[in-house]
Amino acid sequence: MELIYCTKCKIIFNDSHKRCPRCGNKKLRQPFDNDAVFLVYINEQLKADMLMNMLKENDIPFIKHDKSGAAAFRAVFGANFLSIAYDIFVPYSAYKKATDLLVYFKTTKAIEIKFFIIFNYEFFKTI
Ligand SMILES: [Zn+2]
Repeated sequence: MELIYCTKCKIIFNDSHKRCPRCGNKKLRQPFDNDAVFLVYINEQLKADMLMNMLKENDIPFIKHDKSGAAAFRAVFGANFLSIAYDIFVPYSAYKKATDLLVYFKTTKAIEIKFFIIFNYEFFKTI
């Protein structure tokens, strides 16, 4: 089973899908090692910190996109506005290792993380 990549959503999924399950994009290609791939959506600071530490400890580079709009809220309500929401992306070359780490975290119940696993559309939901 091949994996394919939506350059718009930065997600990967199996090639039984003819279009991106998120955005419907039909222009899909195979992922390259240095493609940023969506790993997880996370909306609690503690969990975000734990996850990012875990990635660092495993030498997995990542990109964190702030999805909360918190910067705008902080401008209005002050620095104590704590709501956070991040999309975390990792390079495709590290994606398998990163998802293994997430699954390990989840199955050990050490932490419950809201996340997607994009290999299978069945998992394409927040947990
Ligand atoms: Zn897409």
